[in-house]
Order: sequence, then structure tokens, then C-alpha cells
Amino acid sequence: SFAHVQQAPEDPILGITVAYNKDPNPAKVNLGVGAYRTEEGKPLVLNVVRKAEQKLLADKSRNKEYLGITGIPDFNKLSAQLILGSDCLAIAEKRVVTVQCLSGTGSLRVGAEFLATHYGGEKIIYVPSPTWGNHLKIFPLGGIQTRTYRYFDPKTKGLDYEGMIEDLRAAPSGAVVLLHACAHNPTGVDPTQEQWEGIRRVIREEKHLLPFFDSAYQGFASGSLDTDAWAVRQFVNDGGEVFLAQSYAKNMGLYGERVGALSAIVKGADVATRVESQLKLVIRPMYSSPPTHGAAIVSLILADKDLYEEWKVELKGMADRIISMRHQLFDALKERKTPGNWDHILNQIGMFTFTGLNKQQVEYMTKEYHIYMTLDGRISMAGLSSRTVPQLADAIHSAVVN
Ligand code: PMP
Repeated sequence: SFAHVQQAPEDPILGITVAYNKDPNPAKVNLGVGAYRTEEGKPLVLNVVRKAEQKLLADKSRNKEYLGITGIPDFNKLSAQLILGSDCLAIAEKRVVTVQCLSGTGSLRVGAEFLATHYGGEKIIYVPSPTWGNHLKIFPLGGIQTRTYRYFDPKTKGLDYEGMIEDLRAAPSGAVVLLHACAHNPTGVDPTQEQWEGIRRVIREEKHLLPFFDSAYQGFASGSLDTDAWAVRQFVNDGGEVFLAQSYAKNMGLYGERVGALSAIVKGADVATRVESQLKLVIRPMYSSPPTHGAAIVSLILADKDLYEEWKVELKGMADRIISMRHQLFDALKERKTPGNWDHILNQIGMFTFTGLNKQQVEYMTKEYHIYMTLDGRISMAGLSSRTVPQLADAIHSAVVN
């Protein structure tokens, strides 16, 4: 019998939406989950995505057969080019193997299981503190234990670079290091280019650690696909090995289509072939093969020059709206003379602002102002609009003053 089964807690992020949906107050605002909303507060389907879907629909030669275990070959090739650059030497040397997976989460999970079986060493992955909460579940379930490295400094609300370097130096050689490619979630704090270079040296030259990049926000952070891929490319172009998970949830707005890719950049074409054969053995018993629709959309957009250009414009539009929300919120707090330094609202990058508000303050804001956000003080800037900024600013002001 199953009578002993305990009620599980809600997911800390998705549970916010559950609570939000239950609130009858019409003024409620959901700043919990990291999903883009328009100025009107509505989910956005990109125009290029609609166009690609129409093309797919019109193509009567398409069918619903199974994809291969590793997905759509063109999708894999184009995804690697998108993040590594079309002139990437590792791609030319056939040292990159890319497999279509179930968005970012599925890519991380497949990567974890592969590493647990095939990567020597201690089966430990270092993740930043804090990090996206799911990392702490994905890797242990995939067979790799997590340890944390210092990342966010609450005093400066910036990067604890010294702490991070010290912790990486203390890691056992051969450990894996998870790095957010850009727009670190939840803090919005990224290393500078100079700091990335220092991190790269410790990982490559001092310790021989394996970097595992999680790229969930390419193009979404700065508005430029190349800028947001800069750090990943530094590590790939030094000739060393890299694991890399990509998600199209945010940058193409394909959240529910579950489109992503796992790439392994290895030391030779023969190694890449063998790694691919083993990745298939991870995927086949897990879900057999990935779904078609989302990856077909992405393939069309990445392969067609006009659609690609249109996508870049729409992507920049989303990034710019988020950046403008940062300015509006900052100005609104300034106007209210809210105590404290709020520069980090402008300085942090990507979808989230890590406000520095504590659990009590967040609970107060939810209760009194119907603002829903994670208890660590993270707000999704993508869920804000010009209409809701004053309400959020009032809430923050009141939470800080009281
Ligand atoms: N990594 C990070 C850092 C993320 O923020 C997210 C999305 N919240 C993901 C991975 C994966 O999301 P998805 O599985 O929807 O692609």
C-alpha cells in the first residue's frame, strides 16, 4: 500500500506560481518563475517561432516518426555553432559531439549520468553558492555529488572572486566545475572578462578540473548571442575539454517545448565518436529519443538567414525590455528614498535581480502587496512591467522601512 507516502514540499520556485494562482487579489504579481512576460504581463511567442511553425505545418513531407536517440542532426550541428561560433576550431576538427536533449535540465542530467560512468576522479561537481536550486538535485540523482564554491558576496552584492579562486584551488584535481555561462541564476552576477581568465587558469593550468557550462540565457543577458557566449568560447578555444548544456527555453521562448542540447568538447575526433556512442546508452533507457517539434523550430530559425536575423532582433527586444525594467525599478526606489544602496539592480545581468531582501521581507511583500517571489530575495525582472514597477517599489520600500 502507499498509505505511508508523505506529502512532498512544493518546489521552491514552481511552488511560488502555485501560491500565486491561489491568490484571488487582482493586483497580484508573479516575479517568481523565470519566464519572460510582455509589458501587458502576457507570455510571448516569438514571431519567428510562429513563422517557423507555419512552415513546418505547410510541409506535407513531414511525419511523426521517432527521431534518432540523439535527435535532429542539423539541430545538433547548428546548436554547437550557435554557442561555439561558426569558425570554432574544435568543430572543424570534429572534436565536438552534440546531442539533442530535454531542454537545459535534461541536458545537465544526461551529462551527469555520462560523467558518473565515464569520467575518472572523485565524481564530484563544484557548483556556485548560491546556484539554481535544481543543480543540487540533478547531479546527485545523476550519480555525481555536489560541493559548493564561494560565488556571491552578500556584502558587495557582487562576485566573491577571491573566495571562488580559493575554493577551486582546494578542489581535488579532476573534479568537475559547474559554471553559469552568463547571467548567473539567481544572483545576476557574472565574472568580468579578466576574472574569467583567472578562473580559466586555475581550472586548466593549476588544477585540471573539467568545466561544465550551463548556458540557459545566451542572448538573453546582453542582447548579443556572441557576447553571452564569450566565456564558453574562451574555454573551448584553449583546446581543453568542456561539457556544455544549452537551453532554448528563454532565448527562443520555447519553455514548454523542452529543447536543448548537451555538447562534449573532447581531445580528438575518435574520442568524440566514442563519447557519442556512450551518450546514446545513457539516453536510450531514460527516454529513448527526444521530441521533434521544438527542435524542428530551432533548426529552421538557425538555418534560415532571414529567420535568424529576425530572431536576433526579437531576442534583443526581450533583453532590452528587461534592462529597462532595471532602470525603472532603480529610479522608483530612488524617488521613494528607499534606504540602502540599490546599484546592484542596475549592475546585475539577465533575468533576475538578487535584491538582498531577506525571507521575512519577502513574506511581508507577498502578504501586504501580493508580490510573489522566491524567499531568497530573487525577483524575475522579466515578469515586471511599467505598470507593476511602482507596486514593487512600494513593497520593497515598505519592507525595508518596517
Ligand atoms: N540552468 C539554469 C541556470 C537555469 O536558470 C535554467 C532555467 N531556469 C535551466 C538551467 C534549465 O531550464 P530548462 O530545463 O527549462 O531549459
